[in-house]
Order: sequence, then structure tokens, then C-alpha cells
Amino acid sequence: MSLPERRPIHRLDPTTIQRIAAGEVVERPASVVKELVENAIDAGATAVSVRIQGGGIRRIEVADDGSGIPPEELDVALERHATSKLGPGDGLERIDTLGFRGEALASIAHVSRLRLVSRTPDRSEAAGIATAASRDVQRFEEGRSVGTTVEVVDLFFNTPARRKFLHAPAVEQLEVARAVEHLYLAHPSVALRLESDGREIAEFPATRDLREASVHVLGREMLEQSFTVDTELPGLGRIEGVLGRPHLAAGNARRLYLSVNGRTIESRSIAQAVRAAFVQYIPRTRFPIGVVHLEIPLDHVDVNVHPTKREVRFARESEVADAIRVAVRRALISAPDPARPPEGVPRGRAAESRSFASGPPPKDSGPEGSPAARPRRWAPAAVVQRRLSDMPPVPGLEARRGRPAIALLGVLDALYWVGTTPTGLVLIDQHAASERLLFEALLADGRLARQILVDPLTIPLTASERAAWEAHRGAVRNAGFEIEPFGGDRFRVTSVPAYRGHRARPEAVRELLDELAAGTRPTNPDGIVERVAASIACHTAIRAGDPIAPEELVRVLDALYEKAPAVYSCPHGRPILLELPRSRLDQWFLRTGVGP
Ligand code: ADP
Ligand code: MG
Repeated sequence: MSLPERRPIHRLDPTTIQRIAAGEVVERPASVVKELVENAIDAGATAVSVRIQGGGIRRIEVADDGSGIPPEELDVALERHATSKLGPGDGLERIDTLGFRGEALASIAHVSRLRLVSRTPDRSEAAGIATAASRDVQRFEEGRSVGTTVEVVDLFFNTPARRKFLHAPAVEQLEVARAVEHLYLAHPSVALRLESDGREIAEFPATRDLREASVHVLGREMLEQSFTVDTELPGLGRIEGVLGRPHLAAGNARRLYLSVNGRTIESRSIAQAVRAAFVQYIPRTRFPIGVVHLEIPLDHVDVNVHPTKREVRFARESEVADAIRVAVRRALISAPDPARPPEGVPRGRAAESRSFASGPPPKDSGPEGSPAARPRRWAPAAVVQRRLSDMPPVPGLEARRGRPAIALLGVLDALYWVGTTPTGLVLIDQHAASERLLFEALLADGRLARQILVDPLTIPLTASERAAWEAHRGAVRNAGFEIEPFGGDRFRVTSVPAYRGHRARPEAVRELLDELAAGTRPTNPDGIVERVAASIACHTAIRAGDPIAPEELVRVLDALYEKAPAVYSCPHGRPILLELPRSRLDQWFLRTGVGP
């Protein structure tokens, strides 16, 4: 192992200090963990262990096998604006280390009881320093292998006002877990483990393979259900990434892990660029998941814009975003899809079904029913053939309470039901409809009925999913999901929610946990109860793609009009029903005034 060359810690000059983005470095346990792990990475560590107690509020310990701090520099390491990473006269323009302000240790020491023990390779003993709120400095020696351990006890014990803003330990633990995941995915070559209250939460092995790293954080589906992007952003830098295929898209943006030059970042514009690449592949309420590494020339990224270094500024932000969108889009379109049959092989009973063409029909189109049998040269390669599955005739829905009578014709892609009304056409999103119903039921009763599984299913949960479960056990149980630890990352799902004869897929519990972990999504309804109900409804509803019997849809529609006659959108605001009156169709086909 070769450790990075190290310069002595020195105080920054006043001009540089003035240019440093001011603000609170230590917001919560997760920010302490982030700073300490970044220090370990800067010190060339190959393995870092993070242990927390009480969500990190009671205790945080970060231990590494990096280059250590010489004993004579321990005092100055805890001083503000003292760093070994910026040489005298180095500007803030070309920063290639994660730290550079010399503020983290000082800020953390200021609001906690801090203990730092470190051994450099040339010494046989480790030297330590301990402080309480930066005072009562004590020095000591003890045994330790080469590297550094920083222990932070009683965060904010001397600033009760700030302590008050912390959340419950379970929630803080969730944020720590997320920070650790993010750091690992930015630096998968450094092994990282997280232990909370004596239990192992995450064990991320060192790897050079980004896909392997993504599997450890995002789940096993990433092994087969992902595609890679690895290309130049012409004239701007490079992108390397592993992204989940569209059907893995999540209910929130938090499962997209971005980094620039090894630095974990949050960036709306980059996240949006990645998402824009998925347009037409995922609904507007879903977000791509995956890992994206950007390499941008150092002098084109300003890392000194945010006190916790969470955000950066790009010199040519919109060009970078655009290049990312193009690169990801290309990768998405050209990635072979393992789940999809090769072009030209129809799925299901295509020849008997009527098809919805998404482009103009071929000039030599034969009689109805035959196009699926001949090669459709005019269809762009990526366009999926969609069709109305032929369904046994469905009893029409009688008109009632302001709803027109509906005759269902069939279902498109096991998602949109198509029907006629006396005045035109109607399209119904079966997922949105059933989601709305579950939402109403949950709000009314506070819980869903459960169905015990005769064959409990064992599923793996990621670190943040497990943490979400710890934090929201009650809500998860009220939703009808019963899960129990089954060793390691395995959990057993023993019951699932059931509603009107339909039961949720056991795997839906993972989607629910994910969403609870994230807490927010842009289209959420107000209020915590409503939000939880909406998430639960969304993940237990009849899914897009779940085949359902027409009778069941009839039941759903009936109940929908009965319970919430005026409601035309799911709890997340997506429409449930689209009516296309005959007059609109006539307009569209330029028939106005022409007659039938
Ligand atoms: P910065 O990382 O911005 O330099 P910090 O306050 O985080 O500021 O750390 C101050 C200095 O202490 C660092 O520049 C580094 O020299 C030293 N240091 C901190 N943590 C470690 C560590 N885990 N291993 C080696 N040196 C460290
Ligand atoms: Mg630092």
C-alpha cells in the first residue's frame, strides 16, 4: 500500500480564509461521519470502519488505516483553518483532495467530546489528544496500528439549541447510512463498514468494479437489470456510471448517487439531466437509480461553494448537463434488454390481437389483424409494440352518480384500460385507480388488512432499507407488511396487505421502505399521515403490469366513484381517468363540421 505524500499541517493565510465558503460544517451525525471518512480517504486509507451509537448522537467512531498524523501536529489538527492539504500559495482553484479548509476537526471538536488517536508509519506507538468542547486538552499514548481513530461523543452537548434540531436516533442513523453509501459509491476502492449500536448495518468491500459496488448498495437487481455508461463528455470531461433499467426506477430521487472527481455531491441539474435521459421510459413520478461518476478538470469545478461541500459549481454547467443527458440516453437505448424478446418476436397472442401502432401504418398494410405478422420496417427499433389484449366481453358499467356508462374494450400493456362511453372514449390507469382506493381506505381506518403468507418469502434488504424499517416499523405493520430478520441482510416477509381480494407482492415492501427512507417526493400530498398513506397505497396497489380481471377493474371503478366521486387523480396527483369525447376526436381528425 502506498500512502499519499503528506505535508505538515499549517494555518491557511488570511486571504484564503476569507474566501472559504462560510457556514455550519456540522449539521448532524451524518455530516460528522462524512467529514471523518473523507479525512480517512484523503489519508490514503484502504479500509474505514464507522461505528455509531444512538444514531451517532451519543457516539461516533471512525477508524482508518491511512497515513496518520504525527504527534507534534495533533494540536494544530484541531485548530480552525489548519490543513495539510493546501500548500502555502495554493489557491482554491485546483483542489484534488476532499478536504481543504481545515475546518472539520475544529468544528466537530467545538461541539462534542472528541478523542483522536493516530499513528504514523515511522512510529511504534500511537499518540492521542482528547478535548471537551475544544477545551480541557489532554495528551496520551496508546497502542494502535498505523492509522487514525476519531471518536466523537455527545454531539452538541454544549449547544442544546442545536441538539434540539436533531431527529430521533433511528432517523439520524438512516442519514448516516445514506452518507456511508454515498461515500462508498464515490470511492468503491475503499472498503467501508457501518455498525450501529453493536449491529452491522453495512459491509461494503473494496472493489474497482462500479457495478459490483452498486449491487452492494442498490440491491442485487443491479447485477442484471442495469446498464453502464462509460464515455467522454466531449471537451468537458468523462462520465462513468451504472444505472438501473427503467423498470427499477424509484419513487424518489435519492437512489441516484452522484459524484464529481471522487466527491459526493447533490446536484439538481445533474440529477435532472440523468432523469431527462429516461424520458418516455419512466413515468414522470419515477426517478432513475444508479451511480454516476463524473471526472471534470479540476479548474472547471468550484468545490468551495457550500459549507458542507455538498454542492459544487460547474464552469459550464448546462453544457455538462446536456452532455450527460446525451451520454446516458445513448447508453440506455443501445443497452440490450435481457427481459425483452428479440425484435419481431411477438409476445403473447399478437396475431389475434388488434394493435395500436405508434407511427403511421405501412403503405402496404394488409387487412386488420395482419400487421403484427409481417416485419414492421417502419417501427423505430426501440419502440415496443403495444396492443390491446383481447379480452372476453365485459359487462358494461351502468351509468351512475354522474359517471357515464362505460363499456370496457380491453387493456393496453396491462396498464391502461380502454373503454367507450356514450360520448366518446375513456382511458383508465389501473394503478392510479387502485392506488387512490387504498389511500382512501388507509386514511379512513389507519391500517390495511393483512394476509399471512403460507410460504413466507425471504428477501435481501439494503442498509438504508433496513434502517427505514427500524425507523418506521409501526407504519410498515399498519400497511399490512410483517417482516422479520432472517440473518445477515435477509428478511422474511410473513404477511402482505390485502384489499378487496387483491394482495400486494411481498417485494413491494422494499419499495415502501425506500420511499419511507426518502421521506419526501415532489408530488407528495401534505401532512405526514397522508404522505405515509400515499406511499403505502402506491406500493400495495395493483401495479402497472399486474394483469387483473376486467371484473376487478369494474369493482375498482365502482368503489372509486362510490368513495370519492369527484376524485380523478391518485394521491400523488397523477390522473386516473382520461375522457376523450367524440367532439375532441372529431377535432383531432379534422372532421369538425364535415359530418360522420
Ligand atoms: P481538512 O481535511 O480540510 O484539511 P480537517 O479539519 O478535516 O481539515 O483535518 C485537518 C488536518 O488533520 C488534515 O489536513 C489532515 O492533515 C489531518 N487529518 C485529519 N484526519 C486525518 C486522518 N484520518 N488521517 C490522517 N490525517 C488526518
Ligand atoms: Mg477534512
